[in-house]
Amino acid sequence: MNDVLITGSSRGIGRETAIYLAENGYDIVLHCSKNAERLEELKSEIAKKGVNVRTLAFDVSNREEAKKVLLEDIKTHGIYYGIVLNAGIAKDNPFPAMEDNEWDNVINTNLNGFYNVIRPLILPMIQVKKGRIIVMSSISGQCGNKGQVNYSASKAGLIGAMKALSQETAKRKITVNCIAPGLIETEMTENIPEEAVKAVPMKRMGTAKEVASLVNYLLSKDAGYITGQVIAVNGGMYL
Ligand code: NDP
Repeated sequence: MNDVLITGSSRGIGRETAIYLAENGYDIVLHCSKNAERLEELKSEIAKKGVNVRTLAFDVSNREEAKKVLLEDIKTHGIYYGIVLNAGIAKDNPFPAMEDNEWDNVINTNLNGFYNVIRPLILPMIQVKKGRIIVMSSISGQCGNKGQVNYSASKAGLIGAMKALSQETAKRKITVNCIAPGLIETEMTENIPEEAVKAVPMKRMGTAKEVASLVNYLLSKDAGYITGQVIAVNGGMYL
């Protein structure tokens, strides 16, 4: 039982996390909804590192599809040791201009994705009395960010969900934590204005690898007593 599922691993933080965890000996379950081609390329790259790797494709906002694919996968391969709930989207707009679909898509992907992915997996994980769940929140969920009322709500919701679930699963030796990245260089942030980077005390964006290394630590035995926490990787930034 060494498998780690990383949702949204076709690019960005998820991709870098998959590579980092493979280099640390975990078997990898890659996932995305749209970029199957990129996922196959990554699968070949990871396989060269000598670990087992497979891919899953489903939309995390589609409850039925997520449940079906996940239950089929664990029926064949057994329950995961780790779940990295990383898939997420942003659809920014000032609140008065926000469209219904911008609100709904972000909540359905980021927050309902928690329920859709973790709910089918939690009982099997409880049965083996072991596991790590790591949820990608955001500094926007901790502090709120203008132009991101939808995204901030979804990421703050994840913090509440994580804290509650961590209390339910602690006695089964399942830890649940959030990572709250600040500005990390990925496709999601490619249009970030220079002033935003200047506002970071460290005067630079973070790298996906700097988030991946924390995921790796939270999965490790050494992190076995850490649960219910939000750990920031943000260069000292406050919004
Ligand atoms: P990217 O946009 O680079 O990658 C997002 C990943 O999520 C892709 O693999 C994408 O797969 C997947 N995804 C998106 N929507 C869905 C969906 N409905 N179903 C399945 N998969 C989906 O994002 P980042 O790497 O930048 O961000 C990763 C996480 O970190 C996100 O949750 C984000 O909110 C969070 N974060 C990022 C920060 C940053 O500065 N970059 C800061 C704070 C938090 P597909 O190929 O299917 O599109």
